[in-house]
Amino acid sequence: MGLSTATPPDQDQNQELVTKVACPRCEQLVTASIPDREVDPTVSSYVAAFGDHSIVHCPNGHKFWVYYC
Ligand SMILES: [Zn+2]
Repeated sequence: MGLSTATPPDQDQNQELVTKVACPRCEQLVTASIPDREVDPTVSSYVAAFGDHSIVHCPNGHKFWVYYC
């Protein structure tokens, strides 16, 4: 018969971490992914040459950066 005992994928373990950050131009809350639950995201309206960051696009057409310290 060959019954398979494969377990279903555990979707909780690879869940993407996200946080809400406010756009520095219009204060719209935007979802940004974060690399770790422990980080403290810092929003910046310009690019800086340090640290891990994500580029976030606000629904109102603004682009800003989120840094993780
Ligand atoms: Zn905005």
